Amino acid sequence: MSHKNSRSVVLDVIRAAGTISRVGLTQATGLTGATISTVVRRLINDGLVLETGRAESTGGKPRVLLQLNQSSRFAVGVNLDHSGISYVLTNLGGTVVARMSRTGAGGDDPAVVVARMAREVDALIEGVGVDRTRMLGLGLVSPGPLTPTGGMRLTPPSMRHWEDFPLDRALEEATGFPVTLDNDATASAIGEYWSGGVGAATTFAAVFMGTGIGAGLLVNGSAYRGASGNAGEIGHICLDLEGPECWCGARGCTEAIAGPAAVVAAARADAAIAQATGLDHAADHPRSSIAADFAAVARAARRGDGGARDLLEMSARYLAVATRTLANIMDLELVVLTGPSLAIAGSIYLPVVQAELDRSFFARATHTVTVQLSRAAAMAAAIGAAATVLQSELVPLRQGLRLPSNLASSELVPARASAI
Ligand SMILES: [Zn+2]
Repeated sequence: MSHKNSRSVVLDVIRAAGTISRVGLTQATGLTGATISTVVRRLINDGLVLETGRAESTGGKPRVLLQLNQSSRFAVGVNLDHSGISYVLTNLGGTVVARMSRTGAGGDDPAVVVARMAREVDALIEGVGVDRTRMLGLGLVSPGPLTPTGGMRLTPPSMRHWEDFPLDRALEEATGFPVTLDNDATASAIGEYWSGGVGAATTFAAVFMGTGIGAGLLVNGSAYRGASGNAGEIGHICLDLEGPECWCGARGCTEAIAGPAAVVAAARADAAIAQATGLDHAADHPRSSIAADFAAVARAARRGDGGARDLLEMSARYLAVATRTLANIMDLELVVLTGPSLAIAGSIYLPVVQAELDRSFFARATHTVTVQLSRAAAMAAAIGAAATVLQSELVPLRQGLRLPSNLASSELVPARASAI
């Protein structure tokens, strides 16, 4: 293992463990005591790791415990969407230090939006007084699909004018920070893992619903991105061969049948529901967006409007079948529902998706699939974008490494050698 690799692995084990001794690190990583000793000394010199007291030991001298120096580095996460732009500033541990939401990209020229984003990022950083030299970089997520050159070649209808715009390079120039570009669902999955909501040994998917539907996959703490960063597109699983045309060019996609735009269109088409949700007027409203209109349907359902609730439950049944398909293919243990649309309607979708997996998941005789709502569904993509920066900086090569699931208890295992 190269030095940079050992350093990344050690740092990630310390992060995942909370506190751990050097002996614990040798057990968790398989690296030699001498390597651990060198790597840890350099991490302490760089300010990334702190010594934090001593653990009780079974005989021999007590072990010095190490932990991440959370405030030594920071990352910015940005979620760029048609209807809104969310910003978060997180520390090295993935904890959100500052957040803000601003007007979306709308129909504005991409160059104008990027210039505004750079000013907003500056305001975010200056607002908490963090030194720019402590910034690792900026993670940017958008609905994708992504191209290797950093643009969005095949864009959702609402952002078609961003087609072929070199988004990451433009933002890098405007902010002066290195920019990592990822899709919103994958970033959300990394965010769940990084913020400690998901164990390292879990095979899990974040099912993301914003304006569209997608999923991010994590296996053993590493994102599965596919050949081009576009893995997990469950919004484009076909659920009806003769179904409506989808913007992706196919027919009967989950998103076309049951995504937020389809729910909003169905709500508008029914006079009673349109009135109950206020959507009978919303079309002429200048700030109207799919996300805002979908939120209006969800609010009406929560107020007790039966028609709105029926629409969302039907949407949930389709999403549940698409999620089951993904669970069957990946043999998932856990599904986290996230994204702005599930932040507001998640309580209606959660029981429907869980029931579908309980009833029909292929390997249900072997294990269940747990479904839960993200604790930060509304900001998940931005938080995940920041986590992507932390992960790409600290964990560049993770293939083959499986973190032990009992890191905390490894401190309790009697050491074979005395403290290093
Ligand atoms: Zn499609």
